[in-house]
Amino acid sequence: MAIRQNRVKQNFTTSSESVDLSVVIPVYNEEDNLEQLQDELDAALNALNIRYEIVFVNDGSRDNSASKLLEIANAHPNTVTFVDLRRNFGQTAAMSAGIDHSTGNIVVLMDADRQNDPADIGMLLGKLDEGYDVVSGWRYNRHDKFLTRRVPSMAANRLISWITGVRLHDYGCSLKAYRREVVDQIQLYGEMHRFIPVYAKVAGAQIAEVKVNHRPRVHGKSNYGLERTFKVLMDLITIRFLLRYHSKPMYLFGGVGAFLMGLSAITLLIAFLNKWIRGVFLIQTPLPQIASMFFVIGIQSILMGLVAELLVRTYYESQGKTIYVVRRVVRSSSNSNNE
Ligand code: UDP
Ligand code: MG
Repeated sequence: MAIRQNRVKQNFTTSSESVDLSVVIPVYNEEDNLEQLQDELDAALNALNIRYEIVFVNDGSRDNSASKLLEIANAHPNTVTFVDLRRNFGQTAAMSAGIDHSTGNIVVLMDADRQNDPADIGMLLGKLDEGYDVVSGWRYNRHDKFLTRRVPSMAANRLISWITGVRLHDYGCSLKAYRREVVDQIQLYGEMHRFIPVYAKVAGAQIAEVKVNHRPRVHGKSNYGLERTFKVLMDLITIRFLLRYHSKPMYLFGGVGAFLMGLSAITLLIAFLNKWIRGVFLIQTPLPQIASMFFVIGIQSILMGLVAELLVRTYYESQGKTIYVVRRVVRSSSNSNNE
């Protein structure tokens, strides 16, 4: 037991020799992009003259991405770490896994599809050096489908800025740089990686935005369509709820409850007035009941969704669970000699 504890300790102390920069990249079915991506990363990061690592997370790819990544990790034992998830957990979970297995003081997240340009990383770091805690990429010349991707994204960005009070043009851009403290404090769920700047801002972080290059996807295809906008909107409701009510949900639940009880009292009053003054019972017209039934059920399902959100958080956080399961980790030798 003592030996085991020692080992754990040692593991932690090795992180004091941690690298300056970790580039964390979730990968799902990107077999034809990985080699070129690695070459571009090597070129861009070597030019920066810092100690870096690249953490690839294979998010249960169905193509040859895993073996490609294993090859890359073996060819670059000093700089590449390969985290292989047991199945497809989704981009956010994969990012979260990569962050947990990274050691850099600065974490840069980016996509594996070569739409983000590794050459921009230096610029992001430069901006962090100016004293910011989060530097967010803005794909101002975005190369994605107009109607199904860019229009909903534009609307979503406006809405998120408005509702959260954090003003960014492009939440959905993965290419962002974070100080370690920022990402370590945040638990990610659903599609919520785009809301890291919001959480960070709430924790007092300084946030900057820089324009970054965006390239069309050459190999593979996008994993998302219009349905993601819906998920993002649902996440936005959750975020708003968590930001405002996470420690006092009764203000919201109680408020809505009181409002509904008020409505039912007024309805009752009208029913009695109708009876006393005009001799008409409300039940003679079924529409109000139907409308109120839909109303109550609608409200209740939104509230139950929020309660469920809370339960999920309690489940994961009270038990120290993560939202992913790791199959194996191939570590770059610069981080640890223990595995
Ligand atoms: N991705 C992932 N798991 C998924 C879906 C996507 O790790 O379930 C990765 C994907 O390989 C890419 C990034 O997340 O590196 C962004 O995905 P995609 O390019 O499909 O999204 P888009 O750029 O079209 O928004
Ligand atoms: Mg993409």
